[in-house]
Amino acid sequence: MSKNKPIVYSCSGCSSAAQMANYIAIKIDRQKIAEMSCIAGVGGDVTSLVNFAKSGREIITIDGCPLKCCQACLKRHDLRPTEAFVLSEFKVKKKLGEDFDKDQADIILNQIEQNILQKLK
Ligand code: SF4
Repeated sequence: MSKNKPIVYSCSGCSSAAQMANYIAIKIDRQKIAEMSCIAGVGGDVTSLVNFAKSGREIITIDGCPLKCCQACLKRHDLRPTEAFVLSEFKVKKKLGEDFDKDQADIILNQIEQNILQKLK
């Protein structure tokens, strides 16, 4: 894995929007556009994960809703994302006890990937 690749975080919470964020971040990781790491470790002050977040690489966040938990976890350590995506801004509804719409997720995944690839040029 290239050390120059950005790190991608998703909020990965319990709602459909958070799980869509996780799905999108996983896809971005598997396509080797960025390297996914665990935002829970950053929020929980787990040393190795905080050090990774502070390694100086660009940071992409994918949050499900305006509460922006990824960004809040990073802020604890004085970190800000280079690129921040919030799925509610893509008209994603946050629902509890329901899965996300995979067709909608794939459309947004494509939009986010194009956006990241443009910025990485
Ligand atoms: S950003 Fe919103 S959807 Fe994501 S974990 Fe936080 S509250 Fe849940």
